[in-house]
Amino acid sequence: MTFSNQNGDHPPVDISNNESVVAYFSMEIAVLPSMPTYSGGLGVLAGDTLRSAADLGLSLVAVTLIHRKGYFRQHLDAAGFQTEENQPWQPEEVLTREEPRVTVMVENRSVVVRAWRFDLEGVTGHTIPIYFLDTDVEENDPRDRALTDHLYGGDGDYRLAQETILGIAGVRILNALEIAPAVYHMNEGHAALLTLPLLENQLNGRGLADATERDVDAVRQRCVFTTHTPVPAGHDRFSGEQAIRILGPDRAGVLERLGCYHDGLLNVTYIALRFSRFVNGVAMQHSKVSRQMFPDYTIDSITNGVHAITWTAPSMQALFDRSIPHWRTDNLYLRAAIDIPEVEIAAAHGEAKRVLFNTVANRTGNTFDPEIFTIGFGRRAATYKRADLLFHNPERLLSIAQEFGGLQIIYSGKAHPHDDPGKAIIRHVYEVAAKLNSDFLRIIYLENYAWELGAQLTSGVDLWLNNPQRPYEASGTSGMKAALNGVPSLSILDGWWIEGCIEGFTGWAIEDFDTEQEESASLYEKLEQKILPLYYAQPLQWQKVMRSSIALNGSFFNTNRMLRQYIRNAYYPEKAMAYSAATLESALAK
Ligand SMILES: *Cc1c(COP(=O)(O)O)cnc(C)c1O
Repeated sequence: MTFSNQNGDHPPVDISNNESVVAYFSMEIAVLPSMPTYSGGLGVLAGDTLRSAADLGLSLVAVTLIHRKGYFRQHLDAAGFQTEENQPWQPEEVLTREEPRVTVMVENRSVVVRAWRFDLEGVTGHTIPIYFLDTDVEENDPRDRALTDHLYGGDGDYRLAQETILGIAGVRILNALEIAPAVYHMNEGHAALLTLPLLENQLNGRGLADATERDVDAVRQRCVFTTHTPVPAGHDRFSGEQAIRILGPDRAGVLERLGCYHDGLLNVTYIALRFSRFVNGVAMQHSKVSRQMFPDYTIDSITNGVHAITWTAPSMQALFDRSIPHWRTDNLYLRAAIDIPEVEIAAAHGEAKRVLFNTVANRTGNTFDPEIFTIGFGRRAATYKRADLLFHNPERLLSIAQEFGGLQIIYSGKAHPHDDPGKAIIRHVYEVAAKLNSDFLRIIYLENYAWELGAQLTSGVDLWLNNPQRPYEASGTSGMKAALNGVPSLSILDGWWIEGCIEGFTGWAIEDFDTEQEESASLYEKLEQKILPLYYAQPLQWQKVMRSSIALNGSFFNTNRMLRQYIRNAYYPEKAMAYSAATLESALAK
């Protein structure tokens, strides 16, 4: 069926096969670089998933919040001290306002919610609508008008209110738009409250206190859940008092009775687990860890990916266009990169490196040398990600740089505004960098890590470094972006790298040890014994590693493959049994 839009300035949205619509709910979605509606990996993954859904022609709609003041812009002073600034943006300029309004009770106040739409277009012209929920309407109490302003802002009350808007108002807005999803996908526990209106619909007028196991099961048949973090603090919990005050006693009561409280707290992950027929972690290892965290539940695994077109540098895209027909519509063809001449890979990468070094020069005034081996490290400055592991033994690092005639290192990453230990890590990187910077070793930290800088960094460096503390990296996706651009990784064996590391072919592993002392020693040893000798003394061999990163990892760790796995294993397992995957996908497309 077709939904015409109210303002008439966009073509109608085609949701041809209304019986098989998937509704994808995510607290953050990276839609465009100019829209500050995401904070990091989770939002980028959501955006990449939707871009692939559009490419594959899947019937899917997405729901998120509008985040009028964005996440935050990061400023770093000369000592690496982080300050934050709002990122207000103008939704009216890129989104279309939808007519329907719904209300939801928050803290015993009736809050009006409306939606704005963005049509995301795929490679073949299919579009999927993304609905941004907005409480900034005149009728609302000033407190409530601010509920959709700040992504991950405010306190626990603010977070629970936002999750109420996303889940409950989100389902109601889709109903008001006459969209009847067959599947609801909760992208992380933030979206778990969408199960409440589904349960209320199922009860059809009966009170929540009457909900039975059969009612729960009816909701379960329509829901799937992806959990994204093995860090316990990453699973939102709320006190019983908060839950009763914000959700109301009926909703809080049914969640408690149905087993969604843990250690006396309402835990959104348990809501999502309890109400989903399919649950997955985002890498094989992450699912294993998740099963240990939640032993009462079956947890499958679908390893993350990245949207290949979005994260491949223009020079590398041009090379793929010349050498690999159809790589844009079917990323599996990237396996054929194994036949591209090494010199062409090197030339495309050289161009990406030049683009990055231009940015470095413009932002910092530093001139980086394109002949010198360059390491990239870009990710959220959380303590478990250990941005300063490379500085465990600064003298050793300096001597390696001298031995090989030069080393350049580019850091970037934001700390969450409330994460003081994370902020301290940034200052530590600044402090050590100031001491070590010399003719042989250049270290810089670029402020405000975000989409475009992330794309330039992952494509323009020579090696992507990742050294989190095991087992806290659920997947990691920036190394996948690097692989698509022929940039090998040096990483701890955690998350996706357990699956992606073929030693000496797609990159190198920092070996498993129990102490930072030993792990950093392994890091230095790989650099000194394997990586730098290859880069400086055997350029052709180095280029072969670049090429096999693309062929082996670029062809697999992408959202094109990932979404096909969601379609087959999570969204439509029964249809997938009946049809071949190809038939299924074309059936879903139109
Ligand atoms: C890809 C990306 C991330 C996620 O990278 P990880 O490897 O999961 O840390 C975070 N932020 C930005 C801006 C990105 O582009």
